[in-house]
Amino acid sequence: MKTKARAWLAARAGEHQATCAILGCGRPTMRARGAGLAAFHCRKHVEHKARHGSHWHGTYSAAELKPYLAAATSYLRPRAESDRFIKAALSAIAVLLEEAGPTEIATRLRGMSPRRRARIALARLRIAGIKPDRFVAIVLAVTALIEEDPGSHRTKEFRTVQIAKALHRLASGTHRVWELPDERGRLRKVSELHAFPRSSGQVLRIMGRAVEEHCEWVVEKHLPGVLALKKKRYGQHPRCAAAAAR
Ligand SMILES: [Zn+2]
Repeated sequence: MKTKARAWLAARAGEHQATCAILGCGRPTMRARGAGLAAFHCRKHVEHKARHGSHWHGTYSAAELKPYLAAATSYLRPRAESDRFIKAALSAIAVLLEEAGPTEIATRLRGMSPRRRARIALARLRIAGIKPDRFVAIVLAVTALIEEDPGSHRTKEFRTVQIAKALHRLASGTHRVWELPDERGRLRKVSELHAFPRSSGQVLRIMGRAVEEHCEWVVEKHLPGVLALKKKRYGQHPRCAAAAAR
């Protein structure tokens, strides 16, 4: 049974742990404090999971993802026209982006359903000029990184959230430019960056799943090739060497 379902059932049965299951945490579980349904984790770790997709593993930085993304991009380029799995993923994502509709300015997002906000997040990427090949490369890169890093958290949920986070980073704000007259009446360009609010955990999950479901076959067929190219060019993940030395 899935951990989530088990936790839910346990919570319903009134069964719970006194302290958080994360090693060394020691805080009371939300259930033990009478503040929420989480039967095995404290509030801090429940919130961590909502944001990052894992109770304990943080979000990978752009720098950590970089060699995997570079390898995935070079791997995909010569195959984009010839490989039927890659071709299918690229066209499915092009449709997904097209169907995502218009964007909304950040201030209007308040109160919208997570599903709608996820569509807007995708539309924002389309308007920022992010092409389908970048989406497929990110899915492959995140999957390869999680696969290779011995300290990673290998769950579907972590992968989904990490994919969404990497996509989200590509368009996290809008630049607005307008003209205002200065003291001598001359028009001056004024620009301001409007940062988008951080997406909720649910928005990230909906967005990540929408993208990764079109890449399942590409991952199935090409993950080993991407990993091999990454290792050949950039070497192993630093934690692999550390794990081997122990
Ligand atoms: Zn905890």
